[in-house]
Amino acid sequence: MYKFMKKKEDKDTRRKFLKNSFALGAAALATGSGVALAHKDELSESAGGKTEKIKVLTTEGKVVEIERPINECKIDPCTPPTGDAARQGIPGRSFVMVIDLARCKNARKCIEGCQEGHNLSPDQEWLKVYLMKDNPEGEPYWFPRQCFHCDNPPCVKVCPVGATFKRQDNLVLVDDNRCIGCKFCVVACPYSVRIFNWEKPPESDVPLEEYSPEVSLPAQTGTVSKCDFCADRSRVGKLPYCASSCPMGAIYFGDKNEDTVSNGSDTVRFSEIIKERAGYRYREELGTKPNVYYLPPVNRMFDYESGLGDLPEAKQEVYDKIRYSKNGK
Ligand code: SF4
Repeated sequence: MYKFMKKKEDKDTRRKFLKNSFALGAAALATGSGVALAHKDELSESAGGKTEKIKVLTTEGKVVEIERPINECKIDPCTPPTGDAARQGIPGRSFVMVIDLARCKNARKCIEGCQEGHNLSPDQEWLKVYLMKDNPEGEPYWFPRQCFHCDNPPCVKVCPVGATFKRQDNLVLVDDNRCIGCKFCVVACPYSVRIFNWEKPPESDVPLEEYSPEVSLPAQTGTVSKCDFCADRSRVGKLPYCASSCPMGAIYFGDKNEDTVSNGSDTVRFSEIIKERAGYRYREELGTKPNVYYLPPVNRMFDYESGLGDLPEAKQEVYDKIRYSKNGK
């Protein structure tokens, strides 16, 4: 579709697509059993075309294998909607992200995947990885942070033209066609996740479809942008670029209504992983009700120094100062 996106898609084999995808409503519809979310499995051919075998979770909590046609989007519309339709969201969906801090080693592949997928320049980061400490004596840890798609978003309240809006499926998006670049939302966001597009975005040689806020492309100079949970990919059951790019499987994405999240390899119950791992939301006391949850960095897979090793020089000074969260100073 767009230069970088197309390049990325071209590289993906269908098998890789399946590996990286999570089957949202399609699986539920296929089983008719309501709750389901699946990860990759094998491909097969049938008389009616290509099909795939997927594992789905039934409402009784059993994993069963079903066959379904490939790439058959069950959500209407399947392509990103435009205009007012883009402001509604997908009925019945409640998108959510879970980030496992014990797995993050600042590989920065999530940032690269996001930049490539959204045609961002190298200095535009919708997702940043911070080095954090909970207290002066604590061990530092890596902390990815992007838009939390808050249920009570201060950014939406201050926008004077309704350019940024909250949808029924939890997403908070920006309509570039309405944005006047006043930056009120940038100031209102307590998490500093919005960026202003000062420069012309990188050239794209691929013809664009009609603009949709779900795709956030082409970005326009003088507007505000941010993480959009890859709304166009979520619509068709694919993981966001950050989640599918993370080699550590640190980023899970899914649907609260289905109570399931996946990192592309593992699919787990959202409520269980939050309970078992003491999941929390960043600065919950602000009352913003984020839809990104964190699993604390206990039993870490990597020490934090390993994430400092391969950093480009320009990025090293970012980590000279360690931030403190919660009770830190
Ligand atoms: Fe708005 Fe910031 Fe919340 Fe995102 S994290 S919804 S930009 S207040």
